[in-house]
Amino acid sequence: TVRTRIAPSPTGDPHVGTAYIALFNLCFAKQHGGEFILRIEDTDQQRSTRESEQAIYDSLRWLGLDWAEGPDKGGDYGPYRQSERKDIYAEYAQQLLDAGHAFKCYRTPEELDELRAARREAGGFAALKPSELKLSDEEVAKREADGMPYVVRMIVPEGEGPCPVDDMLRGTIELDWGQVDAQILLKSDGMPTYHLANVVDDHLMKITHVLRGEEWINSAPKHKLLYEYFGWDMPQLCHLPLLRNPDKSKLSKRKNPTSILYYQRMGFLPEALLNYLGRMGWSMPDESEKFSLQQMMDNFDIQRVSLGGPIFDVEKLSWLNGLWIREDLSVPQLADRLQEWALNRENLEKVLPLAQSRMNTLSDFAPLASFLAAGQLTINEESFTAVKLEEEQLKHVLQFSLWRLEALRNWERDEIFNCLKTLSGEMDIKLKDFLAPLFIAIAGTTASFSVMDSMALLGPDMSRARIRHALN
Ligand code: ATP
Ligand code: GLU
Repeated sequence: TVRTRIAPSPTGDPHVGTAYIALFNLCFAKQHGGEFILRIEDTDQQRSTRESEQAIYDSLRWLGLDWAEGPDKGGDYGPYRQSERKDIYAEYAQQLLDAGHAFKCYRTPEELDELRAARREAGGFAALKPSELKLSDEEVAKREADGMPYVVRMIVPEGEGPCPVDDMLRGTIELDWGQVDAQILLKSDGMPTYHLANVVDDHLMKITHVLRGEEWINSAPKHKLLYEYFGWDMPQLCHLPLLRNPDKSKLSKRKNPTSILYYQRMGFLPEALLNYLGRMGWSMPDESEKFSLQQMMDNFDIQRVSLGGPIFDVEKLSWLNGLWIREDLSVPQLADRLQEWALNRENLEKVLPLAQSRMNTLSDFAPLASFLAAGQLTINEESFTAVKLEEEQLKHVLQFSLWRLEALRNWERDEIFNCLKTLSGEMDIKLKDFLAPLFIAIAGTTASFSVMDSMALLGPDMSRARIRHALN
């Protein structure tokens, strides 16, 4: 049976690209009566968090992209979280070492820098080859005896030469071994890299087809070689075109919101977002613009994916969302959607502790909380007239705050406050003056709750998006 998977790394906000890849994997599996599973690739322990993992589950569920097996569901091929499979990878790395397909590399960072510099001077590819990295047997024995740290690297062909890789959409792609380095498989802390873990897991989890982003094409030669070393069949590969900004560059959060949670918070319907993602490089046989997940699954054919970079345009998405709102929801259904959305019970109970002290009548609530239910605010230069900063400085406050807030891990009131206070100190601006433009960007007015409270309520995605919007 056909088995596909999505293998996201829980290292940030759940990306619309992840939903897009998940959608195509799900449709492909269903079309063949197969299974679609979810694996969490959290081997980068510095950057992986449980909150981010949870956000992946929540956002994929919100979209209705359901998986048959996963860390939260179990299944016959678990555990489905790579950090819980360390022993498995160590065993397979050992197998490669024993068979002479990998070697322990004791090179120090300084030595690696020197080797790379020498490579650059010679004008060759940057890829370091086993012959350059390997030390003499005596030197290895010495470093081993000294207890020096090592990594396990894979043996790859020396020099250049063609490496053909089959792709379901592109046919045979010719890649060059010259660009392929002696990839680290196991890091010095015993954690595997993406390449080893991904290949071992796809095999053990009986994945038959790997549909993933184009950005992974260059990893295919290493993966192919690993499958050969292990003597395993390689799943069929299919590299999907990456989503692009309207200016054709790779979709990036600096130009467009990329978090699924942002689109949820903006009030897009999950069925409309899925519909739009389904149109990224793919079309229905009858070219219809509006279709449901079920219709997409019923009509799916991977060969209908076109390779030109699909453009993720928020305005087109808005237009499509409007069709869904106007044509597919009855008034009671629309009422239900509104009730589930931003002004739901849970959010109301979070905002009321701030609002209550400022309320004489219930009707005082709406103006206080309107910024919560809005999407993007209408902001122009006049909005900032009350702010006591030069235009240049005002822009810097917004831009630098945005950068700091993009890096902020815990989106909580006090963390936000500390982050902004530190920055205002560094910029030598009085906190009150510093916060004023942020107030406007976030709430449209300074007559609201504290900007930290407002941001905590709005969440990271909408807060950052509003600051970005105010900058434009
Ligand atoms: P940055 O914004 O810093 O460039 P990123 O957007 O590439 O980062 P990642 O954390 O690298 O974000 O990617 C998260 C997931 O989203 C990955 O699984 C990746 O394949 C997918 N992804 C990222 N960008 C795109 C894109 N343009 N199209 C499709 N999928 C994407
Ligand atoms: N963990 C990788 C990612 O974040 C998975 C890539 C793959 O599908 O092989 O995109």
